[in-house]
Amino acid sequence: MEKIALMRNVIAIVPGSQEPDKWVIAGNHRDAWIYGGLDPSSGTAALLEVARAMGTAVKQGFQPHRTIVLANWDAEEDLLGGSTSWVKDNRAKLLQDGVVYVNLDSAASGPEFDGGSTPALADFLRETTKAVPHPDIPGGSVYDHWVKASKSGTAEVNEIVGATDYTAFQEHIGMSCIDMTFDGPYGVYHSMYDNYFWMSHIADLGFRYNVTCTQLLALILWRLANADILPLDYSNYAKSALAAIEEIEKMVGPQKSIRLERARNAARRWLKEASAWEKKVGRFLVSEKSLNPKRASEVNSLLMDVERAMTEEEGLKSRAFYKHLVYAPQPTYRTELLPRIFEAIKAQEWNDIPRYEEQLARAFDRAARLIRESSRQL
Ligand SMILES: [Zn+2]
Repeated sequence: MEKIALMRNVIAIVPGSQEPDKWVIAGNHRDAWIYGGLDPSSGTAALLEVARAMGTAVKQGFQPHRTIVLANWDAEEDLLGGSTSWVKDNRAKLLQDGVVYVNLDSAASGPEFDGGSTPALADFLRETTKAVPHPDIPGGSVYDHWVKASKSGTAEVNEIVGATDYTAFQEHIGMSCIDMTFDGPYGVYHSMYDNYFWMSHIADLGFRYNVTCTQLLALILWRLANADILPLDYSNYAKSALAAIEEIEKMVGPQKSIRLERARNAARRWLKEASAWEKKVGRFLVSEKSLNPKRASEVNSLLMDVERAMTEEEGLKSRAFYKHLVYAPQPTYRTELLPRIFEAIKAQEWNDIPRYEEQLARAFDRAARLIRESSRQL
């Protein structure tokens, strides 16, 4: 049955005191297939609790430096509809002032932290989990539990490519994004059994993990809204780009070979600039020197633009909405690295590849230039 219905997003704004134009955004969807106990209502509960906590903080005289926007999206399950249309409506604003988007879909079906981000935020996410207690480890943090539960013994941050409401922010705008959840034995995905009974009796007794997720979300937002220098580490990003180049070269069968040397060299130049920048920031932060607010704002805008530099207006051939050069989701949600080249290989459109490689090299050089400029300002 076809039905036309209205989508309703609910947006709350906590105005910033020093840089009110700059938006740190968190979002979660509200629509569900059936009851949606975990997906998405556990996330909605967390978002509402963060709103309540921030409201209390503001009433007590604490105000974030940057504005915090809390968004409750509609129509995620159908088509990522609420978030996508809001991003399209606010495109110019987000290009200019969108700092970071933090997504929370399902908050917690169990104890295991599962964190993903664009590569520049991976270290920030790890650091922040160290400050939140984990209910299963007395005296221990979410980070400790994360490391203990992982097969590799390290806190692995997933690459994110678009699957839930961060998609438009990452793919259409080029905003740095985080997407996170706490996992456990699940099995009720999108079914009528994902309800309050399952949440309260099986998934999360006493809602301890939901509370933990809420604390983490609040801390992430508060730190991002108040950081003097945004915690965007692009050396991680350049390394991910180099790994993506290698992977896509291997994707081509033995009958054909592609070498993306131009893109690789540009990514190396980017890596060099980013590593130098991170050392400089480290020294700056321990020196306890202060940066005048106008300067800091310029530096932060340059850093935000590095993620924007990973996009190109043209968009993917078959899906022009997707403007990111490094990541896109396949229609199955699986990762598509360097999507233009990936799709050209799949379609055997070999002649397009040099142009796509050129776009990549230009993007990496843009990123290096922006970071060099931030260095000059610091
Ligand atoms: Zn969901």
